[in-house]
Amino acid sequence: MITASPLPAQPVGVDWRQQWREAERDSVRLLSRLGLDFLAERLANAGLRDFPLLVPASFIERMRPGDPNDPLLRQILPMDDEDRLVPGFVDDAVGDVRALTANGVLQKYRGRALLIATGSCAVHCRYCFRRHFPYAEATAAAARWGAALEQLRGDRSINEVILSGGDPLSLSDAKLAELIDALDAMPHLRTLRIHSRLPVVLPARVDAGLLSLLGRSRLRKVVVIHANHGNELRLHNQPHAETAAALAALHDQGCTLLNQAVLLRGVNDSVDALAGLSEALFDVGVMPYYLHQLDRVRGAAHFEVDDATAVHLIDSLRTRLPGYLIPRLVREVPGAASKTPI
Ligand SMILES: *Cc1c(COP(=O)(O)O)cnc(C)c1O
Ligand code: SF4
Repeated sequence: MITASPLPAQPVGVDWRQQWREAERDSVRLLSRLGLDFLAERLANAGLRDFPLLVPASFIERMRPGDPNDPLLRQILPMDDEDRLVPGFVDDAVGDVRALTANGVLQKYRGRALLIATGSCAVHCRYCFRRHFPYAEATAAAARWGAALEQLRGDRSINEVILSGGDPLSLSDAKLAELIDALDAMPHLRTLRIHSRLPVVLPARVDAGLLSLLGRSRLRKVVVIHANHGNELRLHNQPHAETAAALAALHDQGCTLLNQAVLLRGVNDSVDALAGLSEALFDVGVMPYYLHQLDRVRGAAHFEVDDATAVHLIDSLRTRLPGYLIPRLVREVPGAASKTPI
């Protein structure tokens, strides 16, 4: 057992599991909380049944009441646009099912292996490419981590393990500790990367237990948060206090902080929105990493931005911000050896 490093002051708040249990699951009630009852007639049918609404109060707090076009609301509200079938928008948009091994390990790129650590998320994002993913069969959790860890242990070409899902930080500290301690003990691994939306949507998750288990790991640590709009990181034009504290605490434990966003029509498809996102990230110590073109997943066609517009947006962004605040515009092409620049 390695001793835990001293912990930074903790943001005070309700236990994250309780906040998760109390997350909003009722679309009609959410609309009523936001003074948007009239939108109830536009709620999805099929989309809602297959992938129900889920959003924590902490994220709702950052939405603008009375605004049907709020960029945070649009990411999570199941609208009737989802029910439309659009040719080319399919269930496994990025070829993951094919690349996935039985153990829940996805290896598409040299040196890096991605572990589907869990299928759960604290928020359901309508554009999510994993919304139709066969988690029940794919999740490496529980007994099958054994096999996944065996696979990682036996492959010396891997130097970075990426915990993904679902949201890996939805696992308990005990489960995460089991996983991270096992990875720590594999000498060929150098880097642990965690992709999570929780520091943004449920910052209470970044608690003393999580910080101590990250702090004691010998691995280099990268935390990639997923924020798509600057308003996710702000409240009343200030950095959102709890999210800012969560990110600062991760940084104090040695984590490099990056952001991955998805370009989404009606959410962040303007130069102002993208510049606002980069600046809000920088304010909380996070560097922009990727801006992804949408994966063409069934039910998400209404979010798509065409490539010409996407390139124009990034070119305009480059004339407004320093180079280090420009994310790389990429898409995931099945079978390619890396994310593909556009
Ligand atoms: C996106 C992805 C990665 C990480 O790619 P980077 O370019 O290193 O961020 C690794 N493995 C899989 C399967 C991925 O989809
Ligand atoms: S995997 Fe990520 S994008 Fe998809 S629903 Fe979960 S948190 Fe949202």
